[in-house]
Amino acid sequence: MSLLAKFSDLAEQRAALGSADPSKVVIETILSPTEAIINGRHTILAGTNNYLGLTFDPDCIAAGQDALARLGTGTTGSRMANGNYSGHRALEQELAEFYGYPYAMIFSTGYAANLGVLSALLGPDDAVLLDADAHASLYDGASMTRAGIYRFKHNDPDSLDKRLSRLKDRAARTLVVIEGLYSVLGDTAPLQAFVEVKERHGALLMVDEAHSLGVYGEHGRGVVESSGTQDRVDFVVGTFSKSLASTGGFCVSRHRELELFQYASRPYMFTASPCPSVIATTRAALHALRTRPELKNRLWHNAERLYGALKERNLWLGPEVSPVVAVRLEDRGLALNAWQRLLESGVYCNLMLPPAAPEGGSLLRFSLSAAHTDGQVDTLIERIAALGL
Ligand code: PMP
Repeated sequence: MSLLAKFSDLAEQRAALGSADPSKVVIETILSPTEAIINGRHTILAGTNNYLGLTFDPDCIAAGQDALARLGTGTTGSRMANGNYSGHRALEQELAEFYGYPYAMIFSTGYAANLGVLSALLGPDDAVLLDADAHASLYDGASMTRAGIYRFKHNDPDSLDKRLSRLKDRAARTLVVIEGLYSVLGDTAPLQAFVEVKERHGALLMVDEAHSLGVYGEHGRGVVESSGTQDRVDFVVGTFSKSLASTGGFCVSRHRELELFQYASRPYMFTASPCPSVIATTRAALHALRTRPELKNRLWHNAERLYGALKERNLWLGPEVSPVVAVRLEDRGLALNAWQRLLESGVYCNLMLPPAAPEGGSLLRFSLSAAHTDGQVDTLIERIAALGL
């Protein structure tokens, strides 16, 4: 069999999707954080993780334009090879300050942050225990290392406890990896319970707050803040590509060893550092997140309205209200059809089919934004109701 033969399976799967294929969607014109023209049609965007709605924020755009004009289009290499721009350092300092941790490190994407942190931390004698529903980048990061990789049941501290017990002395050389808010069902981790378990076994804990930064906690520091576990968590990782409306990733920590990760992290060393304009928009967005609490309040207002209205209509949803609202469906064909009908009615959401959706099911995933108006949320409710699911 040639190297290319395996693609015939993928070709068949793609053909089976027909026009209900999210990868074929083209945003012909982007109009605002919540509207675009798709297939010539005015469409409400409800699947873009633009939680604080900052993609068109005038301050973020001005900061990016200024950096572009003053500092150029790119860094043309890694920080190890080409040096640091002062913006890289400034953003690290601002992230550390924001989280109240002494150490911070930025990466070119959130994906690279997860690869970079896991590959720096884990060696052949170590172990990593991941939540069964953890993001692909966390599994990919773990598989870059020669550590033992184990998974425990989703959001289940007892399952983690059992796994750690089985590792015996190795538990003290183990990293536990979870997320704050899970992006498929919109459920949050029971962090207090996880922290107690990892401390009892002497393991370290890393929390991916990609979807919870700016969304949870009084100051928007994530589920780590809302659960009051900040001084007991070891590493927080996240992305700039959701509530901060740009691209890039980061890790913050109370452990000073994070400062040495740059010498041990290939996904940091061997890729270009973030562009100056990206750093500038991210810093402006972080400033907005810190100084405009009304954005988070507005996001939650929208989340509660959509979740509440769909619950009233007896749709099968994720277990708790959050800015990610999942409409769960047992039947894959029904999900494909519903996703396509929504798109044709001018609503863009995410389609999740097995194995991306849990328990062999499928789902339609809506992510709310602070920029959605009440009228847009009403339209979402109407059009979802009209599907008759
Ligand atoms: N972690 C989680 C939980 C994510 O959902 C994502 C992106 N969807 C990432 C990491 C990767 O982030 P980025 O898009 O910045 O590479």
